[in-house]
Amino acid sequence: MKIIKCRDLGFKCDFMAAGSNQDEVKKTILDHIEKEHKDELDKISEDDITHLKHRVSTLLGRSCGCGAL
Ligand SMILES: [Zn+2]
Repeated sequence: MKIIKCRDLGFKCDFMAAGSNQDEVKKTILDHIEKEHKDELDKISEDDITHLKHRVSTLLGRSCGCGAL
């Protein structure tokens, strides 16, 4: 069981994505962020968004495959 909290990614939000499949959980949280935190996403840089995605992968306990953690 993997759980990722929106709060852990720096948003003031109580949303949690949970599931047994890492890819599903990652998709759920990223979809949520894109929908619910669009304003925040618009304000941060491309680099920060990449960093955010790395952080999701790291929190789920694996590298995203690009080699950067
Ligand atoms: Zn959220």
